[in-house]
Amino acid sequence: MASYLDNSVKFVTGVGEARAKLLEKELGIFTIGDLLRHYPFRYIDRTKIYPIEAINEQFNSTMVQIRARVTGVAYSGTGRKQRFSAFVSDATGSAELLWFNGIKWIEKSIEVGKEYIIFGKPALFRGELSMVHPEVESVEKAANRTVQSGMQGIYPSTEKISSSLSNKGIYTIISNAWAKAEEHIVEHLPEWLLKKYRLLSLKEALHNIHFPQSEALLSEAKRRLKFDELLGVQLAIQSRRTDRMERNTGFMMPRVGEMFNSFYNERLPFPLTGAQKRVIKEIRQDMISHHQMNRLLQGDVGSGKTMVALMSMLLAVDNGYQACMMAPTEILARQHFATISRQTAGMNLQVAILTGASKTAERRRALEGIASGEIDILIGTHALIEDKVQFANLGYVVIDEQHRFGVEQRAKLWTKNQQPPHILVMTATPIPRTLAMTLYGDLDVSVIDELPPGRQPIRTYHYYDSSRLKLWGFMHKQIALGRQIYVVYPLIKESESMDYKDLQDGFESIIRDFPQPKYQVSVCHGQMKPQDKEESMRQFKEHEADILVATSVIEVGVDVPNATVMVIESAERFGLSQLHQLRGRVGRGGEQSYCILMSGEKLSKEARQRLQAMCETNDGFRLAELDMKLRGAGDINGTQQSGMAFDLKIANPTLDAELLSTAKEAAIIVLADDATLAKRENSGLKALRARHAGMQRYDFSMIS
Ligand code: ADP
Ligand code: MG
Repeated sequence: MASYLDNSVKFVTGVGEARAKLLEKELGIFTIGDLLRHYPFRYIDRTKIYPIEAINEQFNSTMVQIRARVTGVAYSGTGRKQRFSAFVSDATGSAELLWFNGIKWIEKSIEVGKEYIIFGKPALFRGELSMVHPEVESVEKAANRTVQSGMQGIYPSTEKISSSLSNKGIYTIISNAWAKAEEHIVEHLPEWLLKKYRLLSLKEALHNIHFPQSEALLSEAKRRLKFDELLGVQLAIQSRRTDRMERNTGFMMPRVGEMFNSFYNERLPFPLTGAQKRVIKEIRQDMISHHQMNRLLQGDVGSGKTMVALMSMLLAVDNGYQACMMAPTEILARQHFATISRQTAGMNLQVAILTGASKTAERRRALEGIASGEIDILIGTHALIEDKVQFANLGYVVIDEQHRFGVEQRAKLWTKNQQPPHILVMTATPIPRTLAMTLYGDLDVSVIDELPPGRQPIRTYHYYDSSRLKLWGFMHKQIALGRQIYVVYPLIKESESMDYKDLQDGFESIIRDFPQPKYQVSVCHGQMKPQDKEESMRQFKEHEADILVATSVIEVGVDVPNATVMVIESAERFGLSQLHQLRGRVGRGGEQSYCILMSGEKLSKEARQRLQAMCETNDGFRLAELDMKLRGAGDINGTQQSGMAFDLKIANPTLDAELLSTAKEAAIIVLADDATLAKRENSGLKALRARHAGMQRYDFSMIS
C-alpha cells in the first residue's frame, strides 16, 4: 500500500533534487517518512537568553541564544576565502558572528544598529566570544515565532549537510514536510496495544518529537517512538526464531560414542569446571533437538572455552559428522591445532589444519582429507571458507572469538553441506544481557561464569610513562622469579609503518635494559613474515624468551601459563574490551599475575575512566557494560557502523532496557495470535517488522 509518506523527500518544500541527494547519501533519508523519522537528538530551550558575559568555556559546543545589537560589519579575504563578520553587543559584552558562505544573503538580512536574537555554537578564544554561521532573527520576527513551547530540536547532521543546511534549515524542511504529511499519518499499532501500554498515537508522537508542546508530551513522544523501534526489532527476531524452529532441520547427533567417552575417561587433562560441564550438556541438548543449533558461548578470557569446543566436536565425530573450528588469526589456529592434536594424540581421530599460510603438502592433506571424509576435525582461519574447501559431511562448526569475523564470512560456512551445520560461536567479549537480547534474540546463549580453580585475580596498575624505571625494576624481579612478560604496543592501522616506530623504539630500549645473553627478548608484529612470527611465538611459549614485545596480534587466545605480566604501552589508545582481552593473556597459571597499564600524563576523560575501570575490576561483564556506556553499542558486534548496530534512531537497548522487555512481551503476544502477521489489523505491524528486518545480519544460522 503506497502512502504519501513513501514519496521522495525531494518533493518537500525547500528540499529539491540536490538536497535530496545529500540527505540520501549523508543521512539515509530517501522518503518523506524517513525525514519525519529523523528525530532531534537533543533539545534546547529557546526561551532562554544568555547575557554574553555568562558564556564561558563550560558551554563548550552546546548551543546558546543571545540577544544583541549589531554594532558593525566587516569583510575580509577574497574569492573563496571571503568572510563576513558582524560585531554585536549586549549590556554585558560583545561578540563576533562569522560567515564563510552564504554571505550575499546574510549581509542583506543584517542591519547595523538593529537588535537580533542570535542562536549558535559559542567559541571562545582568549576570552573573546565568536559564533560561526549562527541563526540570526530580528527581535520582532522572533516574537512572532509560533513555537508553543520553548524547546527546539537539534537534529543529527553531518559536516557535508551542515554546509548546505543549518539546524534551522533541517527544522524548516521538517516543518514543511509536517504541514503536508500530518493528515496522511496512519496509526500502525493496533488500538489494543496503544491502550495496553498507554502509548501516544503516532501522529501526536511525531508532532511532539519535532515540535514539543510540553516537556511531558515530549517524553511521551519519545517513549512511543522508542517502543515502535524496539517492537519492530522484536517482531523480526521472534518471527525469525519461529521460522528457524519450524524448519526443523538440525542434524541429529544422539550418540555419545567412543571418541567422547575415551577422551573423557582417559585423556581429560584436568577436571572440567561445573560451568564447562553445564555448557557441554546444553550443546548436547541442541544436538538431539531436531533443530539446528545456533548458540553463542560467552566466557571470559581464560575460562576454558577451547575444551568445550573440543569435546563438543568429538560428539559430532561420534555421530559420523565432520567438525571444523575457525579462529581469527594464524597464530591462534596453530595454537588450537597444537593443543587439540596433543590432547587427542593416540586416539583414532584425524585432525588437520588449513590456513592461508599452509604449504602445499599441508594444504593438500587438508583439502583431500576433508573431501574424502578421512579427516574428522579441521582447524583453521578464514581459509576454511574458501570455495575449494569441500567437506564430505560437515555437521558442526565452532567459531572462536566471533567478533573478528564478518557476518558474510560466517554465512559462507553454513553452505558447506546441504543442511546447515550446528553452530557454536565463542566469544570472550561479554555482551550485556540487555544487548544480547536485542542483537542475538534469535540466538541461544550459554555462559561459562566460572574460572578453572586455582586462579588468582590479576592485579592491575596504571603507571605514567614517567614511572618507567619502576616498571623496569618490577620486570627484572618477575624474570628473576622465572616468569615471562608481554609488552604490547597499540596498532592503529595494520598497514602503517608509523605504528611500528613505537614498538621498534620500545624493543630497542628493552634490549638495552635486558641484555643478552642473560635475557632473551622476542618480537612479534603484523609486518613480520608468518614463519618469523610463529618462531617468535614458539620461543616465548617454550620459555626460550623472557619477554615478548608485540603488537595487539597476540590479543586473542594465546596461551602461555608461565607469563605473569602484561605491560600495555599507550594503554589510553586501546578500547576497554581490548584491554581486558589483553589482560586475559596472563593469570593463566597458578602464580599471581599483573597487568601494568602505561600511559602519558595527558588523558581524556574517557581514557582515564577506562584505565580506572581496568584497575578496579576483573569482571568482563561489568567492563562490557561500562564500555558500551562510554562508546555506544555500535562496535560491540564488530559492525563498523556508528551508533547502534540496528537501525535504531531513538531507542537504546541498554538505556531503555525496561521498554525493551515491554516490546518483547508485546511481540510475543502479537505473534501468538497471528504468527505471520497476515491479519488485516496487523498490516501496520508487518510493515514495522519489515523495516527492522535488517537484523538478518545478526543471524548466525542464516543461509545466504
Ligand atoms: P579461553 O576461554 O580464553 O579460550 P582457554 O580455553 O584457552 O580459555 O583456557 C585457558 C587455560 O585454562 C588453558 O591453559 C586451559 O588448558 C586451561 N583450562 C581450561 N579448562 C580448565 C579446567 N577445567 N581446569 C584447569 N585448567 C583449565
Ligand atoms: Mg580462546
